Amino acid sequence: MDAAEAHGAHNYHPLPVVVSTADGAWMTDVEGRRYLDMLAGYSALNFGHGNRRLIDAAKAQLDRVTLTSRAFHHDRYAEFCERLAEFCGMEMVLPMNTGAEAVETAVKTARKWGYRVKGVPDGRARIVVADGNFHGRTTTIVSFSTDPEAREHHGPYTPGFDVVPYGDLAALEAAITEETVAVLLEPIQGEAGVLVPPPGYLPAVRELTRRRGVLFVADEIQSGLGRTGRSFACEHEGVVPDMYLLGKALGGGVVPVSAVVSSAEVLGVHRPGEHGSTFGGNPLACAVALEVLAMLRTGEYQERAAELGDHLHQELGLMVADGTVAAVRGRGLWAGVDVVPGLGSGREVSERLMERGVLVKDTHGSTLRIAPPLVISKEDLDWGLEQLRQVLADA
Ligand code: PLP
Repeated sequence: MDAAEAHGAHNYHPLPVVVSTADGAWMTDVEGRRYLDMLAGYSALNFGHGNRRLIDAAKAQLDRVTLTSRAFHHDRYAEFCERLAEFCGMEMVLPMNTGAEAVETAVKTARKWGYRVKGVPDGRARIVVADGNFHGRTTTIVSFSTDPEAREHHGPYTPGFDVVPYGDLAALEAAITEETVAVLLEPIQGEAGVLVPPPGYLPAVRELTRRRGVLFVADEIQSGLGRTGRSFACEHEGVVPDMYLLGKALGGGVVPVSAVVSSAEVLGVHRPGEHGSTFGGNPLACAVALEVLAMLRTGEYQERAAELGDHLHQELGLMVADGTVAAVRGRGLWAGVDVVPGLGSGREVSERLMERGVLVKDTHGSTLRIAPPLVISKEDLDWGLEQLRQVLADA
């Protein structure tokens, strides 16, 4: 930890634990202490650590070919695009690596669609986003963040974004003009503290964007692929956006894989040479993501997240009733937990949980984020929740 402090940039403030191995929902540190992982790499590890199917798929591909660049075709690419488009009920895929790259790709795609299809004058396209958003860390993305920590001293900022309050339909409607090409939203805001919008908001956004000829871009990088008990958080409200942005769990916690998934009309705006990535859609990424999709197609992970999620929210509701937790939000195996003021900051509670063998991460003051791997057993989940109850009772 001292060497990391001395030689690694201080852009994170990790809990003081040094993980060396992991299996399922458990991680082991360099001294052999075991910890229950209740964060799952911010939902990248939905299928748990060392998932056999994913590791086997990766190992088999490592022995065949790992990278071709997109200068050539490779024999996993077409299948990956076809399967992912099919899983999303869409037509086309543009693969990238990180979530931020998928968001950047969505911004570029929406603008290009605006100029080439909608007829917005070049250089005038606008995109509406929500306050409290988290879409990644690039210069353009932090330009439309409302988090001062994420933005400070990163300017000059990219223009062309309008920020409206999350969940406020009237404000969204008022912000849309002839030059608006897209509305970009997280269907549940993760980093903001697992904020679920008011019921009916997402369907209303769907109707509004359709009526006004604007693309609805759903950033499901954290909320998608099983976490909420469905394949997509939008599904809970019967909404199908124009574009899904996927990442994190798409690479199974093994390799970074992200993608923009949309119609042929929208993704068809890109021509050779106009956008790309050396590693985007590489054979190793495609092989792992294909296995992820095969696992998700059975629906068993979504079902598990829904069932265990009901249990999680029921148990957290009891902590609200006993006065140690002020509020709980979320869906499926995903919760934002506001600890009652005075019982410790989110960071302090996370550190006390770590001492008891549970790893979670705080966000914004006194909020904890709970998002265990979907493969966690009910017994382990109960044990983790018992540690939280104890930590709050002892505070
Ligand atoms: N979008 C959402 C909703 C996220 O939660 C995140 C990461 O937390 C990102 C985008 C950025 O992903 P990455 O860190 O892979 O760039």
